[in-house]
Amino acid sequence: MDEIRGDIVAACHRLAREGLVVGTAGNVSVRRDDLVALTATGVVLAEATVDDVTVVDLAGEIVTGGLRPTSEAGLHLSVHRKFGDGAVVHTHAPASTALACVLDELPVIHYQLLSLGGAVPVIEFHPFGTPELADAVSEAMVHKNAVLMANHGAVSRGATLAEAMDRTFLLEWACDLYARASTLGTPKTLTQQQQQAVIEVALTLQYGKPQPVNGDSQ
Ligand SMILES: [Zn+2]
Repeated sequence: MDEIRGDIVAACHRLAREGLVVGTAGNVSVRRDDLVALTATGVVLAEATVDDVTVVDLAGEIVTGGLRPTSEAGLHLSVHRKFGDGAVVHTHAPASTALACVLDELPVIHYQLLSLGGAVPVIEFHPFGTPELADAVSEAMVHKNAVLMANHGAVSRGATLAEAMDRTFLLEWACDLYARASTLGTPKTLTQQQQQAVIEVALTLQYGKPQPVNGDSQ
């Protein structure tokens, strides 16, 4: 898990550098087999080191590390138990959190939201660190790669830490887009038919993958 702990530190630094986390708010975890590495509670993410990443088993018992895991450990473990190996990123990113104070869901105002599973639900408010919040988030993630938590923040998951990070940044971008669009008028949303058309084009063009000019990709 040493390499994973290093990857988590790098992710924390990037989240702080790009303004998605402030101070100790936010946490990152990665599951590999029966172990989960996650940030410790009270850690300033911008200054995190590998010693600030604790390794626990799937029941939350500490395996490696001298610091108590994040107060959202239950949320991370609930998602990891449901989905197997992968990564979870939780932030109080400004645009994501702002929209989670206002909306019941972030509608599909841009086709890039389809990679998060379409409209992003805002989970009903439960206090941080509670089993109710953990259950609600992991349940919603059956159909979504990212969710918003009412008056709290955002959670993204991915098969890899890089993927969970990409989704965290994409969700923040989309929330910022919605907020900007809302200052100009009522944002239009893509219909089911339009969404389906985008999916078909993306499958045909292998959208989102690098495509060598002389390669096999069309
Ligand atoms: Zn939080």
